[in-house]
Amino acid sequence: MRTILLNPGPVTLSPRVREAMLGPDLCHREPEFAALQDKIRRQLLEIHALDPARWAAILLTGSGTAAVEAMVSSLVPLDGRLLVIENGVYGERISNIARRHGIAAERVEHPWLARLDLPRIKAVLQNSGPFSHVAVVHHETTSGRLNDLQELADVCAAHGAGLLLDAVSSFGAEEIDFSGWPLTAMAATANKCLHGVPGTAFVIAQRDALATATEACRTVYLDLQAYLRNQDQQGTPFTQSVQTFYALSAALDELEEEGGWKARRECYRSRMSRVRQHLLTLGISPLLGEGESSCVLNAFHLPEGLDYPALHDELKARGFIIYAGQSTLARQIFRISTMGDLSETDLDRLCAAFDAIIHKGQASH
Ligand SMILES: *Cc1c(COP(=O)(O)O)cnc(C)c1O
Repeated sequence: MRTILLNPGPVTLSPRVREAMLGPDLCHREPEFAALQDKIRRQLLEIHALDPARWAAILLTGSGTAAVEAMVSSLVPLDGRLLVIENGVYGERISNIARRHGIAAERVEHPWLARLDLPRIKAVLQNSGPFSHVAVVHHETTSGRLNDLQELADVCAAHGAGLLLDAVSSFGAEEIDFSGWPLTAMAATANKCLHGVPGTAFVIAQRDALATATEACRTVYLDLQAYLRNQDQQGTPFTQSVQTFYALSAALDELEEEGGWKARRECYRSRMSRVRQHLLTLGISPLLGEGESSCVLNAFHLPEGLDYPALHDELKARGFIIYAGQSTLARQIFRISTMGDLSETDLDRLCAAFDAIIHKGQASH
């Protein structure tokens, strides 16, 4: 029995992605690597039909946070100011990144379960500006909330601030309006909605913004301008994780063949709706309404009389890995992601596993 990962990355791999990692040994200074890198960069832009003259996909070796840190530290100019919108762990992490790099930043804090407070954000932009950039998380994985970015995008555009988007847990499955939002850049990773393996992360950025922020690059390893210069010339400044490149390349082929990001969103929606409905029949209710949740991950209240470690262990014994809530939410919720190579049979088994665990708990009372 294979173990199914229902945590928000890494995901359950398809056989094709797993086998891709067994490709030939490859030196990152050889033309075969350059061709692989070019292919991945091209395919990443093709997901949203982006013009390669305007946008660049830049590949890094690291987890999603590496891409977020590269984006923030390379794109906020030395004389720029950043406004960070926080409504969960990952928004707070962006503030931490800004602080470590000495970037002039202000925060608009929200409770973890709150939707974005647009009037308050607007007031800060108006009264404490100007800000060169606003950083926000698209899908706040802490709660499963898909932040409504349309209004925020309008407000940013009105105040001349570029958006720096943490799209780590949304890129490839949720809508990102590259032409309508004032996006400077977004960061994501291979091992969430794209179904690759951990080890490769990337930033998709406006070429113009990278060209004008060249003095910003605050680190040696996460200097996006250096990566861009090298990757545009079929090179790489540092050794890349070759095997995870193989895996990402295969995963991008699969995404394309399955019909792209919209098809993936439909697939995730149908999986999530099945899980939500089934858990409701067992008295397990979702933390957020369907309309405010992402299709990628939902949080659920822990069932009465069952704490997270017990639920986790019961499910693990049946072949499923779920995810705990963070910090104070650890005692209240559990999280289930829809990402990865899951079949209908896997979902049937998951529902049956929940049935067995909940009924067992009821029988013992
Ligand atoms: C997973 C995730 C990250 C990155 O986490 P890593 O552990 O570095 O891969 C960043 N932001 C969001 C919203 C995430 O879900």
